[in-house]
Amino acid sequence: MTGQDITTIRTRRNSVTSITSTNNSVANTTGSSNYTVRINRTRTNTITSSNGNSSTKTSRSSSQIRVRSRSNSIFGRRLYSFQDLPFWQQDNDKILTGYVRETNSFTKCIQSLFYFNNESVNIYSHLIPSIAYLCLSLFLIDTFLIPRFPTTTTSDYIFINVFLIGAFFCMLCSGCFHCLKQHSEKYSNFWSKLDYLGIITLIACSMISLVYFGYFDHLQYFKFFFGLTCVLAIICSIVVMNEKFNVAKYRPLRATFFATFGMSGIIPLATGFYIFGFHGVLQRINLTFVLWESLFYIVGATLYGFRIPESLSPGRFDLIGSSHQMFHFLVVAGSVCHLKAVIESYRLVHSNFKK
Ligand SMILES: [Zn+2]
Repeated sequence: MTGQDITTIRTRRNSVTSITSTNNSVANTTGSSNYTVRINRTRTNTITSSNGNSSTKTSRSSSQIRVRSRSNSIFGRRLYSFQDLPFWQQDNDKILTGYVRETNSFTKCIQSLFYFNNESVNIYSHLIPSIAYLCLSLFLIDTFLIPRFPTTTTSDYIFINVFLIGAFFCMLCSGCFHCLKQHSEKYSNFWSKLDYLGIITLIACSMISLVYFGYFDHLQYFKFFFGLTCVLAIICSIVVMNEKFNVAKYRPLRATFFATFGMSGIIPLATGFYIFGFHGVLQRINLTFVLWESLFYIVGATLYGFRIPESLSPGRFDLIGSSHQMFHFLVVAGSVCHLKAVIESYRLVHSNFKK
């Protein structure tokens, strides 16, 4: 280590002390993560001052430092960069800024709903649709759809709502996960599992509702597919909830289970082609919308898996346009297509087949 190195380190230490004593947002941080923030600030300071000399670095006034601190925040709220995060929060290194750091406070997590951060779009893109699906289930279907078809049976009514409640539950869990995962690692793990359970519920409810209307006059087939879907859903849920599988080593296994579960929808579809023919399936389950739904889910999962577009331009899509946000919107689009398919199947059953 040269004398110049020692001078540099001293200079950095001075600048760290200066920043820590003058910056309230840093003072608000807790525990070991305080250290991370300080080091990061020091690095920023050194880079910023590379055109000047070291005395300039250490003599920066507190007001200058406050200005920089404010530039890192939106609406006066401190947002953090990827390096500022504790290890457990570091998930996507292509999203560089805009993070809400570990809060250890339920209230602070809820407060994060009211200022823009890199989870805001993820939260609202599923929270708003979840409320919409709840309203559809509680009021809109009863008011605008069911009364038009007096032949509606109790089970018809139940299976329309099976999908609506499944979509509501999935998106509610997702919205809650993205809002509350900032609390702590324990909370994050808990809500992550619920998020996965929500996805399983949505897949299961989607299949069951459509198979019910598609096979309305072939009850034995419906019962078989209903049972198969439930068994696969339970297996997937066990894998997700079990701590043993909640490690990176088993990530491919979990992905395989989810993929298998999602792809199992092909079985009733293929059976439908065999029994009713292409045109029959096209009518019975409104195949066009089911194909659109599949396309949205596949594109969403691909973008999510490859972290497109942020992997192509890290830092550019921190707040808006990241792969996870796209995935959320495509899931909503897919679920809307499915709703359309279910409603059309229901209408067909009560307009053509039972007339
Ligand atoms: Zn999500």
